[in-house]
Amino acid sequence: MRIVIVGGVAAGMSAASRARRFDPKVEIVVFERGEWISYGACGLPYVLGGDVDNFDSLVARTPEQIRGRGIGVRLRHEVTGIDAGAGTLTVFDRDAGRTVTEPYDRLLIATGVSPIRPDLATTDLRGVHVLKDIPDGQAIQASLEGAKRACIVGGGYIGLELAENFRARGLSVVMLEKGPEVAGRILDTPYQRRIREVVEANGVNVRCGTTVTGLTGKAGRVTGVQTDAGLVRADVVVVSVGVKPNTALARAAGVRLGKTGAVAVNIRQETNVAGIYAAGDNTEATHRVTRRRVHIPLGLTANRMGRVAGVNMAGGHATFPGILGTAIFKTFSLGVARTGLTQAEADALGLDAHSVDVSSTDHAGYYADAAPIHVRLTAERTTGRLLGTQIVAHHHLSAKRVDVVAALLQQRGTVQDLFDCDLAYAPPFSSVWDVMLVAADRLH
Ligand code: FAD
Repeated sequence: MRIVIVGGVAAGMSAASRARRFDPKVEIVVFERGEWISYGACGLPYVLGGDVDNFDSLVARTPEQIRGRGIGVRLRHEVTGIDAGAGTLTVFDRDAGRTVTEPYDRLLIATGVSPIRPDLATTDLRGVHVLKDIPDGQAIQASLEGAKRACIVGGGYIGLELAENFRARGLSVVMLEKGPEVAGRILDTPYQRRIREVVEANGVNVRCGTTVTGLTGKAGRVTGVQTDAGLVRADVVVVSVGVKPNTALARAAGVRLGKTGAVAVNIRQETNVAGIYAAGDNTEATHRVTRRRVHIPLGLTANRMGRVAGVNMAGGHATFPGILGTAIFKTFSLGVARTGLTQAEADALGLDAHSVDVSSTDHAGYYADAAPIHVRLTAERTTGRLLGTQIVAHHHLSAKRVDVVAALLQQRGTVQDLFDCDLAYAPPFSSVWDVMLVAADRLH
């Protein structure tokens, strides 16, 4: 029995390790088109800012360590086709410059996403980047040498993380966002505004409602970004305007995509084609609140889907429980988190939802360094069923409270269930009535 995995980052490597643990004898081979395998892309902004020493620090296991566990690793091997009938793959070996045919019994497509590259991101000008993987990070690092001005196109979470890290390097930073606020797809409007205010207070020039129209350059290097509101001078430009799932390989093999545009799978991560599984950022999932299929590409989701696929490919039985879109990020001192639905999302789905906003401090006001924390809690009006929460905390670790609500959403908990939670209390950690409990009390 031969398990073949396409893509060697979160989903692919989780699958490989679980399959190996489940069956020590099965043959497992991972094909990765890039040069890096088994690393945490989530740490890339922090290498650029200097909080993480270097890109090697992001690697969880080296190819040698992986091979030592009996998992075959082929770097710089791009899978270019799947013949599901024959149970074979065509693989382009980038070093040898030739294509070979490889057999499989079970196949996992864990090809992730690609950054959306509007026309300006495909320019030949040096200094214009996207940030998806370690080579992108290395290219940005090189461009930052001697740079004074950075322009970030896109005010999503990666753009906001980059803003902090570029400021940490002493760069002047302009953030261009087409929408009316930053973090547009993450939080409700009042919370988006809170983020922008802090980012601006930290010296980032945020220009919302601004459309990028082109680039300027000199001697092959970018010098600025043209917008509908004038020119922004820049030595480095990072375009971070979203991602799209890598599905071409799957589609060509007859694998069905869902309405989201990502690969459709069942709860065992099986696609509609026998023997072919999918996991990670390229794959859609069921949202546990709405029961709808969604595509929310995040690290834990990819790892968990990979584990499920690995067990099943090796002959076991595992199921994927679905997601809540629980997410958290840091920008400057802020921790920003969400789980479940925002009020705007609930409204768009036609749910009878209401929310409460509570602003408090993250721990007892009389204890040192108490910082503001803002919480929105959303629930179904008639049943009291929790739908979601959003948190903006001025001390970033405090936003981790989101996990309490995520755990309750998982159990279809109510506002009363949250209020009844016996949460930990001591003055350095929270108020005796923690902000989450206060929010639940007020939403009753
Ligand atoms: P990927 O990591 O995209 O890996 C897919 C791999 O497949 C790639 O290496 C690709 O080269 C390879 N591949 C594709 N096609 C082929 C082919 N045909 N043949 C061979 N190989 C192929 N998530 C969070 O939850 N929290 C965070 O804080 C967070 N921060 C992030 C910050 C940044 C800057 C980025 C870029 C991502 C961040 N993420 C975060 C998202 C997280 O990194 C992803 O969810 C996770 O990496 C997805 O893993 P994956 O294995 O599905 O896909």
